Amino acid sequence: MTIIYVDNNATTAIAREVRQAMEPFFTEHYFNPSSMYEPAKRTARAVAAARETIARFLGAAPQEVLFTACATESNNAAIFGATRANPSRRHILTTAVEHPAVLEVCKELARSGYEVTFLSVDRAGNLDLGEFVRALRPDTLLVSIMHANNETGVVFPIERLSRIVKETDPSILFHTDATQTAGKIPIRLDRELIHVDMLSFSGHKLHAPKGIGALYVRRGTAWRPWMIGGHQEGGRRAGTENVPYIVGMAKAVELAAEHAAEEETRIRRLRDRLEEGILERVPWVEINGRGAPRLPNTLNVACHFIEGEGILYQLNEHGICASSGSACTSGSLEPSHVLRAMQVPFTAVQGSVRFSLSRYNTEEEIDRILEVFPRVVASLRRISPYWDSQTNAPRPEAEQMLVSAAPQPA
Ligand code: PLP
Repeated sequence: MTIIYVDNNATTAIAREVRQAMEPFFTEHYFNPSSMYEPAKRTARAVAAARETIARFLGAAPQEVLFTACATESNNAAIFGATRANPSRRHILTTAVEHPAVLEVCKELARSGYEVTFLSVDRAGNLDLGEFVRALRPDTLLVSIMHANNETGVVFPIERLSRIVKETDPSILFHTDATQTAGKIPIRLDRELIHVDMLSFSGHKLHAPKGIGALYVRRGTAWRPWMIGGHQEGGRRAGTENVPYIVGMAKAVELAAEHAAEEETRIRRLRDRLEEGILERVPWVEINGRGAPRLPNTLNVACHFIEGEGILYQLNEHGICASSGSACTSGSLEPSHVLRAMQVPFTAVQGSVRFSLSRYNTEEEIDRILEVFPRVVASLRRISPYWDSQTNAPRPEAEQMLVSAAPQPA
């Protein structure tokens, strides 16, 4: 059976060019870049060149880019590193819809005595700017807000939020988790994101392998290293450099930069076709995040009256790989914390499916999903207790429950 992979917010296929760029560093160029002999200097030069490529891609200086093992490590390092450098400030501002790699770090800090504000979002997934401004305090140490949400693709206005923070108090640090935006939409730390102090991302979301990430720390930021040991990365992240993966991530970034505009347009067109096709063919669905700015590749469909797990199971039978939320929450029956924060009605919060595309998806694959998905939804509804198969519509009491669960006008 041919596989249709539309779970690219979970991870991506490694690009052939990336694999080829990495290959020599597994074989003949295996040396430790810190060693003094000539063959090792070549690996050190490869790491330096990769750092320059990534810095250029971000609009940063090479010495502001640190290599890590993943975005989870980058987020931990950004947040814990900020607390270590600023012990007198005790308030952190974040959102309720962050990836666990930020959310759990903030909860851990809350358990150890920090005050953490978790901002919520509206039905479309947008933050309330007024609430954001009111949440800033004289003792705020750090604001950590994701660039785009991994489940819905909703993009937060980081340019505006970081400007507000610096206009309020330049000593408050601003971190953004850009794991879902790197390679999908532009990131310019020398222009729009000039007020961002720290930024995290990961190789495996942009066609590099799993196990490599980066943390940007703006020069002059009050931050202390989190991973302590050897002198690598200018003493700011200990551990022998993962040379092949660093080279691979730089190649992936280069490819993303080369084709950025054309890919963004093509992927957005495919996503929009899938979205419109689903809305035309499947009744009682809504698009989570539709009223907000969204990543071009992400589509999160809430299907009322059925379970996302059932949909995924049946899509899988047809070779279609999608997800019911973040990879970490799929597989559990807990509704996603993101969809709960967005107040997705209870009849759909368990029935949400995420399709996330990449440059490798084709029109034919979208057509195939549009053929299979409506049939899958219809077959699951036939066995749903909320659904009346005679009328092929929700039972009146289910529809009534849905109407009464909708947010009431103020
Ligand atoms: N942050 C976001 C927004 C993500 O989507 C992910 C992965 O899904 C992570 C962080 C964690 O990335 P990694 O797997 O590289 O640790």
